[in-house]
Amino acid sequence: MSFETRGMVCAHHHLYSSFARGMPAPAVTPNSFLSILENVWWKIDAELDLDTLYWSAALGAAEALCSGTTAIIDHHESPMAIDGSLDVIADACSIIGVKSNLSYGVTDRWDGSTLRSKVSPLAPITDGAVRGLRENERFLRAGGRGMVGVHAAFTCTDETLERATSLAESMNTGVHIHVAEGLDDKDAGARLQNRATDSWLLVHAVHLDRQLSGTIVHNPRSNMNNSVGYANPVRFSNDVVLGTDGIGADMLEEARLAYVRLRESDVTQTPDTVWQWLHTAEKFFPEILEDSVTWSYDNTDSPWHVAFTPGIRCVDVRVKGQLVVKDGMPTQFDMTEIRTKASEAASKLHKKLALR
Ligand SMILES: [Zn+2]
Repeated sequence: MSFETRGMVCAHHHLYSSFARGMPAPAVTPNSFLSILENVWWKIDAELDLDTLYWSAALGAAEALCSGTTAIIDHHESPMAIDGSLDVIADACSIIGVKSNLSYGVTDRWDGSTLRSKVSPLAPITDGAVRGLRENERFLRAGGRGMVGVHAAFTCTDETLERATSLAESMNTGVHIHVAEGLDDKDAGARLQNRATDSWLLVHAVHLDRQLSGTIVHNPRSNMNNSVGYANPVRFSNDVVLGTDGIGADMLEEARLAYVRLRESDVTQTPDTVWQWLHTAEKFFPEILEDSVTWSYDNTDSPWHVAFTPGIRCVDVRVKGQLVVKDGMPTQFDMTEIRTKASEAASKLHKKLALR
């Protein structure tokens, strides 16, 4: 019986997306996964500048810390503000006091200022992809903690996938990539089979049709929200970890949802499977063993208890022994200031989106 756990890891986040909440509704109701990308996410990321990105990342990181999540693996895209964007996110995470592993999501979907929803594998590499690769390389060479990001195979040429693979290898890290999230990316398995290694992070794998090397990141809430289907990650022998895909970073909440979705698929499953996914993510941040979280419930060391106790709150967080959240409020920064600045940046972004 314990009120305490170690710090949580969100293994796939999009800190750029904090301001999707409250954005103007798309003119046309999206009716497919691709249409959600086109009308929501690819509209927001194209309007980001570095200042907006900073406050979006700071708010996302602050909300993560106050949820007991002390480490985030982030996947970032801001196609009109690529250069230096990973430094902006790193700074925001550092000021908030959250550990981060960052990558820029390389893509060929922007051909100059024209957006293409699908890209031919044999098309020439675009300037946008080259700049994205450069941002990953610049950040990693400067000592940044991260991976080489790729949006997804279906928006990349073969040359881009090859260059990202080589860059990751030369920097001694992996590739962080969305894999077969929707049917539009069903060829991802075939295109990545000879490239993926154990250090890759394979995000979603909903329609993945073969075994690929790497760790699978399961994002049940996002998958349900996008109506892409159930990934059923236990069908693979890979390590599995949990992410939120940008919908907050409350990992106990995500784990509870992952459990009931798993159970819906197989009634013999237990919460232990999902809690193992939470622990497996600690391999990306070994120092997280020095972090601890005190919760509002006294059996947080029992998966069966937590799975059936909605609403457990994070009370205190200690990072390397230092009390950084006390009674639910951060001690090292002013949450009201973060929310105020973030709200101003969000209003500006929403106004720009309303004009599109
Ligand atoms: Zn994602």
